[in-house]
Amino acid sequence: MERIYNFSPGPATLPTSVLEQARDELLDWQGTGMSVMEVSHRGRAFIEFAQRSEATLRELLAIPAHYKVLFLQGGATLQFAAVPLNLAGPDDMADYVNTGNWSKKAATEAKRYLSVNVAADGADRDYVTVPDPTEWQVSDAAKYLHLAVNETVVGVEFHEVPEVSDAPLVVDMSSTILSRPVDIERFGVIYAGAQKNIGPAGITVVIVREDLLDRARPETPSVINYRVMADSDSMSNTPPTFTWYVAGLVFEWIKKQGGLTAMGERNRRKASKLYAGVDASSFYNNPVDPAYRSWMNIPFTLADPGLDAVFLKESAEAGLANLKGHRLVGGMRASIYNAMPEAGVDALLSFMAEFENRHG
Ligand code: PMP
Repeated sequence: MERIYNFSPGPATLPTSVLEQARDELLDWQGTGMSVMEVSHRGRAFIEFAQRSEATLRELLAIPAHYKVLFLQGGATLQFAAVPLNLAGPDDMADYVNTGNWSKKAATEAKRYLSVNVAADGADRDYVTVPDPTEWQVSDAAKYLHLAVNETVVGVEFHEVPEVSDAPLVVDMSSTILSRPVDIERFGVIYAGAQKNIGPAGITVVIVREDLLDRARPETPSVINYRVMADSDSMSNTPPTFTWYVAGLVFEWIKKQGGLTAMGERNRRKASKLYAGVDASSFYNNPVDPAYRSWMNIPFTLADPGLDAVFLKESAEAGLANLKGHRLVGGMRASIYNAMPEAGVDALLSFMAEFENRHG
């Protein structure tokens, strides 16, 4: 069977060569006579693989030595709680900037653990832009400032993260990590769920600056305690070994593509093409401020929402899957993470032009 182009926001498409390698190695991983799912996480083969995967990730993102890399469970959502528990006490406060539903969810969860100061909120513009960073009401008392670098639902992305606070910057990079080079040293904590640019769901990469490792509250569960997990190489309990393995294959694949500079150029090109196609026609619309348009998640609406169901049906028949927009914003959304080839974007653009000809 042919693989189709899958525009799902996550779990998202994976590189075909990674899936083929996982298939080829499934029954006998590295000559062990067992699948990678069946070997001990404490055995030499898995430990070596885990170390190599971390080294490759460090190389890709140029992660400095004074940052720890953790592979945790619970998704990005558990980090919404892990961040306040690890970085602040119950009487402390933290700044949150709301640029869409994911950063709002992070703030809502954090309120259970400390005081949240919403330094800015894009609600009055329906989250189609980011409130002017020079007007953010950050607090001197904040223990950290939290942002979502890319909002997966509304398609709003910081192409440059503003410098507005002396507090450590904590960022949700779930839907943009590894899409281009980043300056890790700008951040205190970076976290990202796997199921977009890293691998299958089930693992969360957390990159923490070492000086932030020892602030956890005593009651912090040990599997999300950054110090405990750093000291145990993320193996204080059994890690999701299969997900970790596929993530390691994806890191190698990114390296073979030329690393993050090449990946970033390709992602910029893919996104520019798609926005240009949407903007060129009054049949399609993307409402997001061009300065903050995501390279990864591109929502668009049809001038006639009555055609939404037809668009979805016909696009699926044309081998373009999962283009339905999030229920909060409706319309369509094309998620074009690293593993979406440029040919997939071209195929979508051709379909869109042809659909407009027939229905416009
Ligand atoms: N943050 C962002 C930006 C996301 O896109 C998502 C999931 N789509 C989450 C957090 C939640 O991730 P998880 O389901 O892995 O907990």
